[in-house]
Amino acid sequence: MLTKKKAATAAGPRLAKVVSGITGNTVDRRTFLRTSGIAAGGAALAAALPPGMVKKAEAATPAAGTGTIKHVKSVCTHCSVGCTVVAEVQNGVWIGQEPGFDSPFNLGAHCAKGASVREHAHGDRRLRYPVKLVDGKWQRMSWDQAIEEIGSKLLEIREKSGPDSVYWLGSAKHSNEQAYLIRKFAAFWGTNNIDHQARICHSTTVAGVANTWGYGAMTNSYNDIHKSRSMFFIGSNAAEAHPVSMLHILKAKEQNNAPLIVADPRFSRTAAKADEFIRFRPGTDVGLIWGILWHVFENGWEDKDYIAQRVYGMDEIRAEVAKWTPEEVERVTGVPGSQLKRVARTLASNRPGTLVWCMGGTQHHNGNNNTRAYCVLQLALGNVGMAGGGTNIFRGHDNVQGATDLGVLSDTLPGYYGLDEGAWRHWARVWGVSYDDLLARFASKEMMEKVGIPVSRWFDGVLEPKDNLDQPESIKGMVFWGHAPNSQTRLPDMKKAMEKLELLVVIDPYPTMTAVMQDRRDGMYLLPAATQYETYGSVTASNRSIQWREKIFEPLFESKTDHEIMYLFAKKFGFAEAMLKNVAVQGNEPSIEDLVREWNRGMWAIGMSGQSPERLRAHMENQHTFDRTTLRANGGPCDGDFYGLPWPCWGTPELKHPGSANLYDTSLPVAEGGMGFRARFGLERNGVNLLAENSFPVGSEIRDGYPEVTMAMLQKLGWDGDLTEAEMAVIKEIGGAKIEAVNWKTDLSGGIQRVAIKHGLCPHGNAKARTIVWTFPDPVPLHREPLYTSRRDLVAAYPTYTDRQKFWRVPTLYKSIQDKDVSKEFPLILTSGRLVEYEGGGDETRSNPWLAELQQDMFVEINPFDANGLGIKDGQMVWVHGPEGAKVKVKAMLTERVGKGVTFMPFHFGGWFQGEDRRGKYPSGADPIVLGEATNTAQTYGYDSVTQMQETKATLCRVSAA
Ligand code: SF4
Repeated sequence: MLTKKKAATAAGPRLAKVVSGITGNTVDRRTFLRTSGIAAGGAALAAALPPGMVKKAEAATPAAGTGTIKHVKSVCTHCSVGCTVVAEVQNGVWIGQEPGFDSPFNLGAHCAKGASVREHAHGDRRLRYPVKLVDGKWQRMSWDQAIEEIGSKLLEIREKSGPDSVYWLGSAKHSNEQAYLIRKFAAFWGTNNIDHQARICHSTTVAGVANTWGYGAMTNSYNDIHKSRSMFFIGSNAAEAHPVSMLHILKAKEQNNAPLIVADPRFSRTAAKADEFIRFRPGTDVGLIWGILWHVFENGWEDKDYIAQRVYGMDEIRAEVAKWTPEEVERVTGVPGSQLKRVARTLASNRPGTLVWCMGGTQHHNGNNNTRAYCVLQLALGNVGMAGGGTNIFRGHDNVQGATDLGVLSDTLPGYYGLDEGAWRHWARVWGVSYDDLLARFASKEMMEKVGIPVSRWFDGVLEPKDNLDQPESIKGMVFWGHAPNSQTRLPDMKKAMEKLELLVVIDPYPTMTAVMQDRRDGMYLLPAATQYETYGSVTASNRSIQWREKIFEPLFESKTDHEIMYLFAKKFGFAEAMLKNVAVQGNEPSIEDLVREWNRGMWAIGMSGQSPERLRAHMENQHTFDRTTLRANGGPCDGDFYGLPWPCWGTPELKHPGSANLYDTSLPVAEGGMGFRARFGLERNGVNLLAENSFPVGSEIRDGYPEVTMAMLQKLGWDGDLTEAEMAVIKEIGGAKIEAVNWKTDLSGGIQRVAIKHGLCPHGNAKARTIVWTFPDPVPLHREPLYTSRRDLVAAYPTYTDRQKFWRVPTLYKSIQDKDVSKEFPLILTSGRLVEYEGGGDETRSNPWLAELQQDMFVEINPFDANGLGIKDGQMVWVHGPEGAKVKVKAMLTERVGKGVTFMPFHFGGWFQGEDRRGKYPSGADPIVLGEATNTAQTYGYDSVTQMQETKATLCRVSAA
């Protein structure tokens, strides 16, 4: 369907006009198509590039004009693979770009998005100066005026309704330093109503995985997949969402003959590369995984020694799995038992194997059950804690891992310390402010320690009557800082909320769909933020490696960096000095290096303490010295380090810990990146030992499991004498009369970590992973039918949860929605996902002429069987109606990619709303080239039972001719 693009001509007058305007010394269109791995029609894989089709930066044709051409390294801002971009800069102008050949992540490859980031940064559709709505029209204003007006209004809201009535929505597009600063900023404002995109992409992963074995992150790396003997992908379309990762995946496939198994409701571009494709009904992941595990247990293929030493609770899993006979699995998921037996055998006989998942698994109302079920499968096979194994959870945005780690979340401070008094006291010490001063900024101690409203529900915080909320007042002021609203469900409700707010602010390089989806007349501002190419600092790739970006050029137009904007608001609010006590400010810009050093001093719990700016810069400068599989430097200034010092990188920078490439790997000493599972769930449960048994990292002086390391433990072992005087002084200051209570997470000297590692111990202890999370609504992961299910016959056996009155401060419905049977009027399942050409809400990428040409129309994929029954032809405009009353107008794409009864829409489009093209509402010249309906206008209610993740992968719809 979508207009076929020829190699040499733009598809239509609109795009032809745009493309013809691109001239000068940048990449030409043909080179772009070649170097981005895109053939006509938009094939996705950079891995398919023959080596001769891309050139090294030094071989670039010199640009016209005079002046030395400098090569500056940055990192692509479009996904978590973390591909290096080498910019060619002449006289301060970014004139050309090449992929980084020395980067172990991309090895000289880029996908379409990475190959065109210069156009994104230099985009002539960016927001150029601050504007505000005056009687429905955008009016230019100065930054001074904007900070003054917005700041005064926010202070007025704070005064009248309290600090929790303002919502600070941060971003996975912030650098680590900006992410850290905005979390601190919210603390100084006095609210936990702060969050970012991780809530709606991988919050169920973070909660599920952290509660299984300690940390909520990808365990291994893209590169480590080179060592996998099998690869199981579920709910991940890496070929489109993480294109350059396919370099590594296909290497394992070819080099190791590793079978690639792809489980997905849709025959995706990743599935096209698979040895085995499992098509299953959306929302039945737990049933599918238990169906595989049924065969594993039935045949005794589980790793019994590994389970005995390193896993708690497998017997309770066994009892649940026993119910998932091949017949039941087929009834629920639609997958035949014979296929799953084959898959189980393949996984069992090709170890170590990796398991990869993405938003197909996470975005469900029982998403935390899915992520835990995936972990359990890997634990049963003994696949976690070794090279080639693990759960490789591909994150989305370039810094969604870092923004999560640095606490741009409503339920924690940086480093996953949580929100209890101990956590606040820890960060108050790091910040050099008194706990009481921080407390005074909040409405109360209770509000200071209460999780905030998650981004998935911010608009319910506006719309719900005050009495339904678990905070003093509703949300009245909203600041969108690098966030696209169309990435969220229930857009008609969000529109209402946007119109009800007293103040709505967008801070972004592009106006985003927020600018046009509401019908406000005033009380709204758009502020131009700089991109990451106009500043510098660190960014964390999906595998926890931290890369350093250098500044390519000065902020364009009147845009300002995020940290400068934070400083200006903090100054207006009167807390800039206290907030930046340890941070130098040059002009209006807080020092990036000082911010790194400050987060280094507080992030002990995940080992983001050893990555100084100097070490990170050295890694970027010496990329060529790192092995492309192990990620370890072989000689050179970084000898022995893992690339990007993936956390945990224990202790202070002076300790020179190399980082940890693979989590929970006991084959290495802790000093070299080894560790067991984290001890965070207690010592025993129901009389069963929760610590590891006869399993420990190489070189450990305790040759068994042990709890997390505290001062009391060092004293008992007689190791406290190893602490230096300076370390002891810090510990005494923190602990006061109770120094024994100071531990590896709260000791600001790093001494406890250093001494533990000296004796071969991992600071976080050495425990078993747990397969049952007794604090969650479903301790053993259970299948639950989607809220909007077409399988009414399964609701009684697999019902959803009961409604909750106040959950993350808002009412949250489950049963009352599922009880309404709408399956007759809305008979088709609707799911959603990504396209290779665009990213997130798509405003940046749809404004990029190179990318816009490749994908011009929003569409719905529908199986020809269903379309023929409805009398719908390929390419015709249709309405997709959602069961909550919204509808979107899109092109029909008839394809067998989706099975009968299933439809799919990509989620990057915006600018239309229920059939109406809203192009005219953008500030002049800032409208993206391609507009379209947002799938999330029609996507419905549904939130994870632990994290409030939105449900976007399994709702219902009806399709009719438009
Ligand atoms: Fe690499 Fe991802 Fe950027 Fe593509 S979008 S170039 S895969 S970082």
